[in-house]
Amino acid sequence: AAEKQTLGFQTEVKQLLNLMIHSLYSNKEIFLRELVSNSSDAADKLRFLALSNTELYDGDANLRVRISTDKDAKTLTISDNGIGMNREDVISALGTIAKSGTAEFFKNLTGDQAKDSKLIGQFGVGFYSAFIVADKVTVRTRKAGEAQGVEWESHGEGEFTIADIEKADRGTEITLHLRDDENEFLDEYRLRGIVTKYSDHISIPVEMFKPEVPASEGEDGEKIEGTPAEWEAINKATALWTRDKSDISEEEYKEFYKHVGHDWEEPLTWAHNKVEGKTEYTSLLYVPKRAPFDMWNRERRSGLKLYVQRVFIMDDAEQFMPSYLRFVKGLLDSNDLPLNVSREILQDNKITQAIRKGCTSRVLKMLDRLGKNDVENYQTFWNEFGQVLKEGPAEDSAHKEDIAKLLRFASTHSDEKTQNVSLEQYIERMKEGQDKIYYVVADSFEAAKNSPHLEIFRKKGIEVLLMSDRVDEWMMSYLTEFSEKQFQSVTRGDLDLGNLDDEETKKAQEETEKEVSGLVERMKTVLGEKVKEVRFTHRLTDSPACVVTDDHDMSSQMQKLMASIGQ
Ligand code: ADP
Ligand code: MG
Repeated sequence: AAEKQTLGFQTEVKQLLNLMIHSLYSNKEIFLRELVSNSSDAADKLRFLALSNTELYDGDANLRVRISTDKDAKTLTISDNGIGMNREDVISALGTIAKSGTAEFFKNLTGDQAKDSKLIGQFGVGFYSAFIVADKVTVRTRKAGEAQGVEWESHGEGEFTIADIEKADRGTEITLHLRDDENEFLDEYRLRGIVTKYSDHISIPVEMFKPEVPASEGEDGEKIEGTPAEWEAINKATALWTRDKSDISEEEYKEFYKHVGHDWEEPLTWAHNKVEGKTEYTSLLYVPKRAPFDMWNRERRSGLKLYVQRVFIMDDAEQFMPSYLRFVKGLLDSNDLPLNVSREILQDNKITQAIRKGCTSRVLKMLDRLGKNDVENYQTFWNEFGQVLKEGPAEDSAHKEDIAKLLRFASTHSDEKTQNVSLEQYIERMKEGQDKIYYVVADSFEAAKNSPHLEIFRKKGIEVLLMSDRVDEWMMSYLTEFSEKQFQSVTRGDLDLGNLDDEETKKAQEETEKEVSGLVERMKTVLGEKVKEVRFTHRLTDSPACVVTDDHDMSSQMQKLMASIGQ
């Protein structure tokens, strides 16, 4: 056997451990949910690999997880016969946080425990939560199809040890050496209660040992049959998404989200659908409450968990969601895809396309419903994910109108920075005779709000949308109309307020224009090549002059954007 080796945790693991133990202590029982959830994932992975190599089962295909205690040793053990781990797996899975951008994220933590632990929630709680209740954790594991077992052990401080061991059966066994005042987790009833509360939806049996009950005789001599000692499932052990919607409680949906989403917060909303007909599938789609720290990281993996006929196939199947909905988490269970489906096959597949179409409109509908029924939560959604959704009009022209309905903007109606005005609201407030949706794009909200281009609109009481996100200019080049109303940038060309100007004003304007024509000519000569045109305008009321872009030229925002990427 190889020597016992001592290794240090990645710095971020130490920070995570520290924050987690402090911020989750009041809800410490969730460690059990996390360990059971990992066993369930490990069973999924084994089942998938066994599809093409049944020998991996090695005569034991009844996948399950078992919970047992040793009151004398004060230990709690969670053991499964899932995929297991080899030495390499253990070192990377239980010594590091395997997510790109993690180090940077941790550098940006404030040091304020309350704030940081909220931010850290998006990592998911995971295996390390064992240290909330244990001062030593021993993991003994052997990977399916491999002979060598491994033992990992740590006190959850700076380091862990790793050694080769003999392990008779495949899978992972995690033993928690409970801290002094955590004896409650040795109690059978307490443990059953926790499993029922958090892990009922887990699709493999979660078993506890039931001791033998010997046959006995009742008071008046009748025989009472005994039961043998056996492992007994204490959860429903049916995949949650296969159950009837009406039989699933809100709590169950939320707990299930934490399992599939690897998130420690509750979801904002979800949609569970069984689709029958030409393509048959079940989808369970969730919108998280918080954007992941790496949402803008190109290497970030996103997508749904894919099952085929209830068999787990892969994580992060990104083919079923367009990129502008990459924040959606959840799963998909298809009846039509082949069990040996690969990412390559998914790529160019009619079934994939049909499901993707269905899932896309389901998410858009779910968001529309949230926007109508729960303004406060919708605002949370918008603040977290609005920037991503704004990629939609460019990516998915078929759903442009549905996406536009979901957009929220700051506007001159309140002059506040919060983006909370929908296009439907804007249209409701339009002035008589107004047939366009006016907007301005600037570098910052302040710049947009104080743009001299707005003067005439303010004077006439016409609402203008104030845009200042990086994606806005780009989005608006794809979004030309909504509800049959054209979008019109207030900085473009010769602004025609159309029916909004009455005859009298028009006359007065023409006269002024004549009066200043000499001045305009002089400015043209002075500015020369620097400008394309100097034009009289009546759109300014307080400022003497402003710079505008011609209708077909690149806007000044776009010019800046192009310059910033070196064009
Ligand atoms: P997550 O489940 O979100 O990946 P965890 O901290 O819960 O994060 O687990 C980290 C990793 O450790 C898992 O991704 C998996 O590779 C490995 N792991 C944990 N528990 C088990 C287990 N019971 N069987 C096999 N692998 C496991
Ligand atoms: Mg986990």
